[in-house]
Amino acid sequence: MRRLVIAGNWKMYKNNKEAVETLTQLKDLTKDVKNVDIVIGAPFTCLSDAVKTVEGSNIKIAAENVYPKIEGAYTGEISPKMLKDIGVTYVILGHSERREYFKESDEFINQKVKAVLEIGMKPILCIGEKLEEREGGKTLEVLAKQIKGGLIDLSKEAAEKVIIAYEPVWAIGTGKTATPEMAEETHKAIRNVLTEMFGKDVADKVTIQYGGSMKPENAKDLLSQEDIDGGLVGGASLKADSFFEIIKAGN
Ligand code: PEP
Repeated sequence: MRRLVIAGNWKMYKNNKEAVETLTQLKDLTKDVKNVDIVIGAPFTCLSDAVKTVEGSNIKIAAENVYPKIEGAYTGEISPKMLKDIGVTYVILGHSERREYFKESDEFINQKVKAVLEIGMKPILCIGEKLEEREGGKTLEVLAKQIKGGLIDLSKEAAEKVIIAYEPVWAIGTGKTATPEMAEETHKAIRNVLTEMFGKDVADKVTIQYGGSMKPENAKDLLSQEDIDGGLVGGASLKADSFFEIIKAGN
């Protein structure tokens, strides 16, 4: 039985004070949530205080990126070891904004996935097709390439620990959401690619989140689909009360 994982992605929003305030509210709101794992992805500058703020709760903290080396002369970068050291447990990787604006390749993302797993944190690997790719009938081809590229050379044991976030790029921050049926069909196809790579026993254990304009109004219909195991939530995670509504829909 897969547990739902609902993660917020705060992107480049919130200073440290705002992050602590929102997490304090969320901690209080979610104190009775038992059936959902809750994660917040926060900017690097907030991570240390974010971890301290959620201590004793069921909220975990994610970084939104990492450099795939343990240490070295990489000016301006942050290593998996540094994140682990302050109590971060998840890392969001390969978000479409990083693929688009920072030209991150599947190969580079694969190095990050491995580095995060090796140190004992959980990667949330984002994949998703652009509008022209969906309209051109290329969705599954694009997703298969991102999954295979992102997870190449992983052992079965490592692969089961990865969370995949399926985020159609045309649905991110646009207010447009995939219908629950469309999302479910795509999640099933993603699980088939995982079965091909690692076998059914592994594919059945992997958490596959949906992301793309998930909000309180559509969360329940999306999260009730068989292969949708949670959400990666941008805009609606910035306020504790709207994020809590999504968590409640999952709980
Ligand atoms: C995201 O950035 O991962 C995301 C899903 O954003 P939004 O919920 O705002 O569409």
